Amino acid sequence: MNEEKPNSRNIPLPIQREVRQRCGFGCVICGMPLYEYEHMEEWALVKRHVSDEITLLCDQHHREKTNGFLPKQIVTEANINPYNLREGVSKPYLLHFSGSEAVVEIGGNTFSCADQGYGTAMVPISVDGTPLIGLILADGHFLLNLVIFDEFNIPLLHIKNNQLVYKPNAWDIQLVGTTLTVREDHRKILIEIQFCPPNKVIINRGRFLKNGIEILVRPKNILITNNASVISGCSAINCYGGLIIGYHEKPISGFFAMNGISRYLGSNKEALKFEKESMHQNKL
Ligand SMILES: [Zn+2]
Repeated sequence: MNEEKPNSRNIPLPIQREVRQRCGFGCVICGMPLYEYEHMEEWALVKRHVSDEITLLCDQHHREKTNGFLPKQIVTEANINPYNLREGVSKPYLLHFSGSEAVVEIGGNTFSCADQGYGTAMVPISVDGTPLIGLILADGHFLLNLVIFDEFNIPLLHIKNNQLVYKPNAWDIQLVGTTLTVREDHRKILIEIQFCPPNKVIINRGRFLKNGIEILVRPKNILITNNASVISGCSAINCYGGLIIGYHEKPISGFFAMNGISRYLGSNKEALKFEKESMHQNKL
């Protein structure tokens, strides 16, 4: 059936992950987050998958290597000192978003807005004055802004006006098709973002963290664990604020605004229990 033959060209998934981690989740030459796994030794000779012998190359650099423009030695040197690890941040990748309307789906909730003149903006999630997701629509452009923090308030992934960058020190970052997944550990997804150009973004899994606020995203709901608020099946259309949590110097009216919320103290057990019960009740 699907069993791997000893000399199969398919690289086992754990080895692919090791290679990604070692190469800083991008082409070792230029940092591009779209890449292929490349055996540095001729496959016909080695016929084995050893992570140290495999590297990451983007389409362009892969082609240059195949055609003989990129000497093996340069690839070997870049493999030892990959671009993204050297820079401490990935090479910016421009997402191709456009249009006069934009939709962001988060845990089955829909946030949508249409351009109503120069500089129309929407903030689906904001914590303590920091927009974690923001949309701008102007002159036929849809600009996506998004920032993902870890538990220590350090930004790991940033999309600034469609430019995607990430820190290569996450446990795993993988772009498959148009879905970007950042993992904190085995089976521990920090965020999974499905980009649907030209004008849609879907987030069905993950957690937004900021200043001790934890917003968990599941395929059918959002759970704010600090106060066990479950948000499901909501639509916010053409309103500036979505989930507006904590203190904002410039008050933002949101369809779900809460100030004075208690901060995360390490255990979200009770909130998870509440979520389970309330989702169960909703089904009845
Ligand atoms: Zn490259």
